[in-house]
Amino acid sequence: MQVTSTSPVELLKQLIAIPSVNPMGQSVSGDIYYETALTSWLVNLFEEQIIPYRVQEVSPGRANVIALCRAPGATKTILLDAHQDTVPVEGMTIPPFEPTEKEGRIYGRGACDVKGGMAAMLSAFLRLCKADNPPANHVLLSLSCDEEATLGGIQSLADDWLKTATHPVDVDPLLYQRPDIAIIAEPTELDVINAHKGVVRWKIVTSGRACHSSVPDQGTNAIYRMGQVLRVLEDYAQLLPTIAEAHPRLGPATISVGVIKGGASVNIVADHCEIEIDRRLIPGEEGDAARQNLFEYLNSQLDFEIEFTEPWVNVPPLADADNGQLCSNLLKTIEPIAGSHNEIAVPFGTHASPIAAAGVPSVVFGPGSIAQAHTKDEWIEIEQLEQATEIYYQFCLQSHA
Ligand SMILES: [Zn+2]
Repeated sequence: MQVTSTSPVELLKQLIAIPSVNPMGQSVSGDIYYETALTSWLVNLFEEQIIPYRVQEVSPGRANVIALCRAPGATKTILLDAHQDTVPVEGMTIPPFEPTEKEGRIYGRGACDVKGGMAAMLSAFLRLCKADNPPANHVLLSLSCDEEATLGGIQSLADDWLKTATHPVDVDPLLYQRPDIAIIAEPTELDVINAHKGVVRWKIVTSGRACHSSVPDQGTNAIYRMGQVLRVLEDYAQLLPTIAEAHPRLGPATISVGVIKGGASVNIVADHCEIEIDRRLIPGEEGDAARQNLFEYLNSQLDFEIEFTEPWVNVPPLADADNGQLCSNLLKTIEPIAGSHNEIAVPFGTHASPIAAAGVPSVVFGPGSIAQAHTKDEWIEIEQLEQATEIYYQFCLQSHA
């Protein structure tokens, strides 16, 4: 592989052509799935450009790649983060892995979420590494895995910062150190997200006793029990604003049931039923406490036992308490390049909250609109892609000590 250009447009086209579909917890086969091919491409790129990097394996075949641009004499480190994975491609109306440039846009899976942001960060980072005038701060670039399903990749990286484990002597220790501030690429249309909700997801399970459906009185129907759970959950959803006071910018905490599964056959009384819960957290809330609160409420209303599984996603909210300086510095960098933009608060979660939870002030900023993310004809505007590249580059050149 030869990287001939550091233009964000050319980089984005190369990134789209390398499938990195997140299987979203499903069992899948086929080489479009997982980040493996993209991870190797990134490793080759940093090898070829002689840029220090490390690979952090998160689970078999899935890894974060972290690269470093060291600034002589600098004492602070900026982290730029973008995730490698995309959502699946079923139902897309354009070829997902054949990047197409048309009328000032680039089309393809990940163009907007978030290979566009990744291309902009990579382009800025490669320029910083090669520039005659180095950046004012060290710059770490993390290309992380498994954002769309679990945020497990970034959590592993953040956990790493809090360990004092020894690391290989031939690797720059900065590659292992916690950065001082972080910018996370997601489509924000060049606004800056400085607050968002968190999320915890888990299953609630009801059990019963199976028997033939012709004599249902001899069994206990787990689906009927789940029906009772659902009625109580609807009441609880109405009560949430009294449990956690609504955030002035993000609104109230919410709860939603997204999946229900139960029963084996129409002629058997079901002995098992489960639902999947999506509980959105607002700043000040914490996932485990939110689960416990619901568990106690359900138990106070029901006369049978329910089971809560361990959560497979538990991401804290991003609070706007600690990132004010970073947010205003970034907005000042944006203005001369792309005009005046705003700080915004959004309901969806990002890598910013696990990074912030590790003690690193974090904001989210990138090209593209969330309205085009995950869509059947995903695209990004080239003008925004190029502006974002320049903004990442200029922000890293400036001192944020
Ligand atoms: Zn994304």
